[in-house]
Amino acid sequence: MVRDNLIKVYEELPPEVKLVAVSKFHPCEDIMEAYDAGQRRFGENRPQEFASKVPQLPSDIEWHFIGHLQTNKLKMVLPYAAIVESIDSRHLLDAVQKWGSENGKVIDVLLELHLGAEETKGGFSELEIEDILSSANGAAEGEFSHVRFRGLMGMATNTDDMTVVEADFARIEAFKRHLDAKFALPDFTELSIGMSGDWPIAIRHGATIVRIGTAIFGPRSY
Ligand SMILES: *Cc1c(COP(=O)(O)O)cnc(C)c1O
Repeated sequence: MVRDNLIKVYEELPPEVKLVAVSKFHPCEDIMEAYDAGQRRFGENRPQEFASKVPQLPSDIEWHFIGHLQTNKLKMVLPYAAIVESIDSRHLLDAVQKWGSENGKVIDVLLELHLGAEETKGGFSELEIEDILSSANGAAEGEFSHVRFRGLMGMATNTDDMTVVEADFARIEAFKRHLDAKFALPDFTELSIGMSGDWPIAIRHGATIVRIGTAIFGPRSY
C-alpha cells in the first residue's frame, strides 16, 4: 500500500520537486516499505521519535526534521538531520548556530514563515526573516557562521477552503521572490510548502519541497 501510494504521488510530482515522506507516528517497517520502493528522503517532527528511528534504519536516508525543536533537544536531532526545516524562533536559530560552532558542523536550515491564520502556529514574521538574512549576508565569520540558510518553509491555514490555502502559498511565494531579489543568497533555493491535502496547489506556487505524510503512510493514530 505504501508503495502504491508513493507511485501515485510520483506520477503527479514534477521531477525537480523533492518529496519528503513524512513518517511521524509510523513504525520503521512502514518506512522500510517506502525505502524498498526507492524513497530516500523522510521527515520526522518529534526529537525523541526521530532519535530512536534513525539508528534502526539505513544510513543513506536523508532526514528532514520538520517539527518544533526545543533547544535542549538539539543533540537528538542535529547530528542526524540533513536539514532542519522548522527554525521558528531567533532563540532556536542562535542555539543551532552555537551547537554547530561547538561541534564543527554547518547546519542546513529553512526559516519557517508564520503563514496560516492560526495564532498558535509558530514561525517568523516577514520582518524577522528579513532581519536575520540581513545579518547573514556578508558575515561568513559572523553571527551565522555555522548555519546555512537554504530557504523558507510554511504551513498553510488548516481549512477546506482552498482559496485561503492558495492565498497563503501565494504570499510565501511572493516573499521568497522578494528575498531572492533583495539578498541574492546563493544557497537560499528551497521553498518547502504543501502537505497531503494541498500539495498540488503548492506546486503551482513554486514549491521545491513537498512534505507528504497521510497520502503515503495513511492516517496517523495519535
Ligand atoms: C505532519 C506534517 C506534514 C505532513 O502532513 P500530512 O497532512 O500527513 O501530509 C507536513 N509538514 C509538517 C510540518 C508536519 O508536521
